[in-house]
Order: sequence, then C-alpha cells, then structure tokens
Amino acid sequence: MNARQLRTLLGRRGRDVVLRGRHTGEVALGRAAAAWSDRRGGTLPPPPAPGCTGGVLTVVAHPDDDLFFINPDLANDLQAGVCTTTVYVTSGDAGQRNAYHRARERGIAAAYAAMAGAPDVWARARVTVAGRVLTEATLTGVPSVRLFFLRLPDGGMDGSGWPRSARTSLRQLVQGQVPVLWTVDSPAQAYGAEDLLAVLSGVMTHVRPTGIRTLDGERGHADGDHSDHHTVAQLTAAASARWDASVPVAGYVGYPSAELPANVDGRELADKAATVEVYARFDRLLHLDPVQDTVSPEAAWLARRYRTVDVPTSR
Ligand SMILES: [Zn+2]
Repeated sequence: MNARQLRTLLGRRGRDVVLRGRHTGEVALGRAAAAWSDRRGGTLPPPPAPGCTGGVLTVVAHPDDDLFFINPDLANDLQAGVCTTTVYVTSGDAGQRNAYHRARERGIAAAYAAMAGAPDVWARARVTVAGRVLTEATLTGVPSVRLFFLRLPDGGMDGSGWPRSARTSLRQLVQGQVPVLWTVDSPAQAYGAEDLLAVLSGVMTHVRPTGIRTLDGERGHADGDHSDHHTVAQLTAAASARWDASVPVAGYVGYPSAELPANVDGRELADKAATVEVYARFDRLLHLDPVQDTVSPEAAWLARRYRTVDVPTSR
C-alpha cells in the first residue's frame, strides 16, 4: 500500500458494523470434526465472556504466525486469563486444496486450547462483519478465547499468488493491482481493500481491545519476509487508526527474526516449542521437530520474539 492509498483508505470513516450469528453448514474434516460444534440460531453472538472486554486482539496472516512470531506473549496472556481474540486474514492455503487450510485451522485451535489449558473443544459459527461472513471459533471451556478466519488466499512469499487463486494476493489488492480478492472457501466472497479494512475495524469495534498485535509493517517487501505478513500489518495499522488511533499496535518481526539474536529461552522457549508441536501435527507441510531441529528457520523463530512496542492487556 503506498502512502496515497493509505491516506485514501484512512480518510474514509468506518460505517457501523453489526456482528450477527449464522449457522454454518460446514463440516470439519476427519479427526477435526469431533472438536467442532456448530452454534445454531441466535441473532447476536454472546460477548466473549461475562465481563470480558478489552484484552488483546491479534491480527496475523496465517494460522501459525502467532505461534512462531508473537509467542511467548500470546501464551503468557492466555495463561493470565486475558481476553484473547485472533484474526487470521488468509487461510494459509499455500496453493493447496481446501483440506490443507482446514487442517491448519484445526491445528491452530488445538494449539490455543493447549495454551489456555482447556479441552480442545470449540463452538463454531459464521458471523457477518461489515457485510462479509467470517468463521468464528470460541473455545468452549474458556469463551474469552476466540478465533476469526477470513480465508483469503495465501499470496505466496513475493505476493505473486498461487494458481488456484488466479495468482492474486493481498499485496496486489492493497497496491491496487487487482480490484478484489476472493476467499478460498465456498461460497467464495470478494473483498476489496476497503471491504477488508471495514471488516478489520468492525472486529475491533466488537472486541474493543486495549492492545493490538500484528506482524511487521515497517520493513520493506524486500526484507525476506512473507508478502502477506507485511500487508496484513499495514492493513491492521490502517484499520486500528480508523477505529481508535489511541490503542497501541505492536508489530512483530516475521521471517527475518531468524537473523536477529536469540531472545527467548528457558521455560518460555520450551512452552513455545511444545505449542508449535501441537499445531504441527495438523500441518503436513511443516516439517519441524522443535526439540531436535536446531538449524531450520522455524527452529530459529522459536528462540526469537521481536516487537515494536508492548501492548497493555487491560486499562
Ligand atoms: Zn506466515
């Protein structure tokens, strides 16, 4: 997103946004099915938990960015009982068939349940935010833990996309190279850049976080990070400025963190690795043994966490 596009987007104030529940007819795959239950009926989703407002909203590109790049911060929040909502802007499909991204969703849910110390049982609903239908998963045992999946296509490292998504990407969307991006699920939904900002700021309106976490949007696209990481960070910053510019936004360095000195160790490193291990059982493209592997980028990410600012978890 260039400066002019960003100013244009920021200049438009968000319209009122309504979240409303809708039964989903989707069926989770394989072993995932037992852990999901569809929430039926109702016009409004319940609040995150009795008295639960504030807390932290995390917006990432793919289901595992939070585990590699934001943890241990996220796990520490979950263990402290902080209200926690995470939005996954892309499905992380990596050009694969739908079974792959659905497995990733199950994996990230299992990882959150493990971090929260709760059974891996989730209520899932389809909710409408700013005219787009999102999948919402709420951890049954700790309903202050929620995940939202937008299922836009993974744009690939350099933003050149994948054949299954007609080689489109988030980066192309915000740079104005494509007018819309289509979700990978069915029925497919089209998102323009403005739609995406409205959805993100709509989630912020609903969650009312006291702090927002996302990926790194400061470095340029040529720094070796995934194109979706930078773009999601830019969109999140723009959406939060539209919603409430006083709420701090922390950016976390993605892939290039591997080049920085290690700064996560001891119990936090062990817990971070254990959480990735839970997730990795569902992600067939992630070949990582968190204990044995000391040379891959993934292993390097485990021992690093670089953020721009601390965010308050309450106020
Ligand atoms: Zn990622």
